[in-house]
Amino acid sequence: MQIKKYQKIITEIYSDIKDVEDLGKVANYIPELGNVSADNFGINITKINNESFGIGNFEGKFSIQSISKILTLTLAYKLEGEKLWQRVDVEPSGNPFNSLQQLESDYGIPRNPFINSGAIVVCDVLISHLQNPKEEFLNFCRELSNNFTLNYSEKVATSEKNTGFRNVALCNFIKSFKNIKNNVDEVLDFYFHICSLEMSCKELSEIFLYLADDKFRTHKENSVLTESQAKRINAIMLTCGFYDESGEFAFRVGLPGKSGVGGGIVAIHPDEFCIAVWSPKLNKKGNSYKGMLFLENFTTKTACSIF
Ligand code: GLN
Repeated sequence: MQIKKYQKIITEIYSDIKDVEDLGKVANYIPELGNVSADNFGINITKINNESFGIGNFEGKFSIQSISKILTLTLAYKLEGEKLWQRVDVEPSGNPFNSLQQLESDYGIPRNPFINSGAIVVCDVLISHLQNPKEEFLNFCRELSNNFTLNYSEKVATSEKNTGFRNVALCNFIKSFKNIKNNVDEVLDFYFHICSLEMSCKELSEIFLYLADDKFRTHKENSVLTESQAKRINAIMLTCGFYDESGEFAFRVGLPGKSGVGGGIVAIHPDEFCIAVWSPKLNKKGNSYKGMLFLENFTTKTACSIF
């Protein structure tokens, strides 16, 4: 579809939804996230030919939180290959993102890399491969998007470090099953930093083009992932990207995607585009209320889900 057509449809839905009552709530269990203005609403689409359109606050940076779990997974998959799946599974959990429950019966193997427990194991895998994990991971993201302004928010990372008791529990619990190899404090510090990455909708829709565009990968000198690996990450996004609301997102939107408690959502249409939405108020499952609503309308009006 032409960018002009997307532009028309996105503009229409944006003005329809902008003033709809938002039934969500801004996350404040990480205190620093509670300081963001709830009215922020932005959308950006980037096609695989790099044509792009944004509306609302599409250039405002926000805390991408769990969306960064796609990036850590990508780097860990690249470095570790198929061995990675011995440490983390690829099944939907049907449980909240910060749940400890299944780890006991699953012997410390997290259900998937997009819930907190899985992302913590992925961080541990990265620490085993990298000398300066925080720096090297940031450089990986900067090179991937050709955007050297990307950075962590020390404020958000510190805020989460001071309050992230469930993540501390998850990491220690997994370590008791020997599925964390490095020092627990180091793993958690890295995890809190990757969650604190800040990006705008525009930047998000650019950085994830490698999951939409097969050619993007072969153009790059050091290709990001093989075609098969990229397809697999899309599959995990479709089945696990929204925690215990992944089925609902596939049902209502029909695209591989990933949300974060900062209110961002990215969604991929393979061979077509990447779209990112930001609206900070979250529904009860921790996914952006208006972000979900927007994307549901978007795939309905453009008829461009993957199904
Ligand atoms: N940093 C957040 C946490 O660990 C990420 C959660 C999310 O975005 N779903 O709780």
